[in-house]
Amino acid sequence: MRVLKFGGTSVANAENISKVLNILEKESNKHTIAVVVSALGGTTDMLIETGTLATNRDEKYLNVYKQIVDRHNDAVEELIKGKAKEAVLKRINVKLEELKQILQGLYLINEFSNKTIDKILSFGELLSSYIISEAIQQTLKRSSLKDSRELIITDSTFTNAVVNTKETSNNISSFFKKNKDKIVVLPGFVSRNKDGETTTLGRGGSDYTAALIASATKATVLEIWTDVSGMYTANPKLVKQAFPIKEISYKEAMELSHFGAKVLYPPTVQPALQKNIPIHIKNTFAPNEEGTLITKKNTDKKEPVKGISHIENIALLTLEGNGMIGVPGFSKRLFSTLSRGNINVVLITQASSEHSICVGVYSTDSKKAKEIVDEEFIYEISKKKIKPLLVENNLAIVAVVGDNMKNHQGISGRMFRALGNNNVNVRAIAQGASERNISAVISHKDIKKALTALHNRFFEKQVKTLNLFIVGVGNVGGILLNQIKKQQDYLNENLLLNVKVVGISNSKKMIFNEEGIGLDCWKEQLRKGKKQSHKSFFETIKELNLSNSIFIDVTANKEVAKTYKDYLKESISVIACNKIACSSKYSDYRELKDLSRKYNASFLFETNVGAGLPVINTLNNLINSGDRITSIQAVLSGSLNFIFNNFDDNSSFHDIVKQAQEEGYTEPDPRIDLSGVDVARKILILAREAGYKLDLKDIKNQSFLPKESLEANTVDDFYKTLKAQASHFSELYKSAQKNDCQLKYVAEFNNGKASVGLKEIDKEHPFYNLKGKDNIVLFFTERYTEQPLIIKGAGAGAEVTASGLFGDIITLGRN
Ligand code: ADP
Ligand code: ASP
Ligand code: MG
Repeated sequence: MRVLKFGGTSVANAENISKVLNILEKESNKHTIAVVVSALGGTTDMLIETGTLATNRDEKYLNVYKQIVDRHNDAVEELIKGKAKEAVLKRINVKLEELKQILQGLYLINEFSNKTIDKILSFGELLSSYIISEAIQQTLKRSSLKDSRELIITDSTFTNAVVNTKETSNNISSFFKKNKDKIVVLPGFVSRNKDGETTTLGRGGSDYTAALIASATKATVLEIWTDVSGMYTANPKLVKQAFPIKEISYKEAMELSHFGAKVLYPPTVQPALQKNIPIHIKNTFAPNEEGTLITKKNTDKKEPVKGISHIENIALLTLEGNGMIGVPGFSKRLFSTLSRGNINVVLITQASSEHSICVGVYSTDSKKAKEIVDEEFIYEISKKKIKPLLVENNLAIVAVVGDNMKNHQGISGRMFRALGNNNVNVRAIAQGASERNISAVISHKDIKKALTALHNRFFEKQVKTLNLFIVGVGNVGGILLNQIKKQQDYLNENLLLNVKVVGISNSKKMIFNEEGIGLDCWKEQLRKGKKQSHKSFFETIKELNLSNSIFIDVTANKEVAKTYKDYLKESISVIACNKIACSSKYSDYRELKDLSRKYNASFLFETNVGAGLPVINTLNNLINSGDRITSIQAVLSGSLNFIFNNFDDNSSFHDIVKQAQEEGYTEPDPRIDLSGVDVARKILILAREAGYKLDLKDIKNQSFLPKESLEANTVDDFYKTLKAQASHFSELYKSAQKNDCQLKYVAEFNNGKASVGLKEIDKEHPFYNLKGKDNIVLFFTERYTEQPLIIKGAGAGAEVTASGLFGDIITLGRN
């Protein structure tokens, strides 16, 4: 004989039940089968809801009741044809009327006991099994219906009854010995106590009903038909990359289901295991897919981890106090108290100091646990030997499971590294004595991140996903998006990096897409986006809580720079093109560096100096390897270089500056470049990165601008002064010409002191031949004493700046 169980979704409506009938038709050709069914999907929840509403004297209970009536009537209307229909409709409506009477009773007496809950819940399975049995009768003859309550006998723990296995097994085997029908349909979940009162086997209990029948009849197989194609490596609703496990041992399946893999109700495994009956999990909606086979076999020796599961809504209870040390019996008293209160302990850890015991329970039990435990230890608490029970809510458990974990080293290392790298804080840890599972208690909000990170670590090619949030998608930002689009496939293949742009914003609008924004049409999407604000951009990123989130600032905005702190504190890395943060007050710069370290989030800003040139990276490498910077000489302004390289006798200084602005070499306000402030900020950042505590005011700035230009209030006025003061600028040129020199705007740092200013550079100097918008940096260090380490190349322009940002992104990805 075979036992087939169909879950709620599989029998949710007439359409799905037809699929079930097809499966039964095939299987009953060859075998005798027992068919265990759940209530029509969602009915059990609706029954609880209507019962609760009625108890609370809320008339809405009638609406929910009506929905229950309708869905059962609809199913009959569609499934049952001909004369039989009338009779079936009549019978289900008699049952539904009986339900209504009980609900009315609840409305009056205002009390919803567990006993009544079971009475009400049983309607779900009793109705579904009757309807399905009638539907089978129409097409496949020789079928019958048997009420499981006549077979499965339990104690009186209503809503979660304990089965008397001996009596139950006898009842089942003698019934099936006499049975002549090819198909017997039975309601899952329902049972009765020795007084004949209806009990139930706990939520999800239909699986268990089927296992009891399989075990008592020594069935050849127990098939659990559900809405997914087997037991997956992780809950497929949360982890998209999860896949069905082909074969798994009873113990592994038990462990995964105990830790939340809802596809199998935990008590189901034991009866099958005892009789060595294989359990096959199959998909009603894709019956040809292989599914998962659960047997005694300890499979795949190479892959130590079989699956990852999780339980939501966990509370951690901590009992602690010095009075516990060396005094036996505290754990015993704690556990007996919880057991007396019918509180299920999901996880246990104990500090080796014996100073505290920590257990995980379902959140729904935490209030009661606190009351009864504090009551139990009232004396010790009053004497301050222990503290009142500490309860932490909003937690969850993630568990990594596999029979072969015990034969492999380093699994827990990998597990906790994956969690740590994704900033998932672990509150407690437990490892089963069999080493078949390692579980961690984490915050509820981190579930998805933790599962994805663990799944990625144990089951996927080690592709790391970087989730980018880019603010400022003008010139440089736009080009960065283009570069990313072009390079995505290459990075995936060669560096195992999946670079995904999840959020972008300009000064007006912002958009987000967790799956990754389409980089072909981001401009249109952004136009239709939500109104932007720095706060809501940050809040959304925080809310998404994705692993490897990176905030990228491609603005020159002071307000954006102020938000870096918030990101780092959430362990979100920051990449800044914006120089403001690193060149503002030293204490602000220091704070960001410290936060970066404290929250394990990177803070990179290579493009602050020399656009895409590896200036800061090189400097960091020198320092980290133990070198010390003695002097820096540099030409760091792409725009000033462009201006002085093009300015000569035949051109006007005003026109050259205008051209530099139009070609995008200057800051939006050219005064920031021409006044030397931009260069001063850059040398300041280099000095700070070299380990010196400097502020902008410490940098000597000898301006080459005439007084009028320095005093101009607007950009327009500034341009006017450049025209009016043309002779001042041509004098500068002529003097350099006379001395056989070139004009360069130079930044210098020597033993703690920095300055910027225009200089006449002679032919011998490495700066003399600097072309176009190139930058050059000379580092003199304790190791590079005579000849400096030189970095030279284009130091401005949107393409190179974007590629510098891209470089920072990749550096982060490879960390
Ligand atoms: P049924 O009504 O058929 O008994 P359940 O809802 O009880 O179905 O169980 C199936 C559901 O279990 C799936 O839809 C899925 O959301 C959930 N689930 C959780 N963890 C797993 C897992 N590891 N593998 C498969 N399904 C899982
Ligand atoms: N109908 C019950 C529930 O929803 C039992 C089951 O479906 O297994 O929990
Ligand atoms: Mg189920």
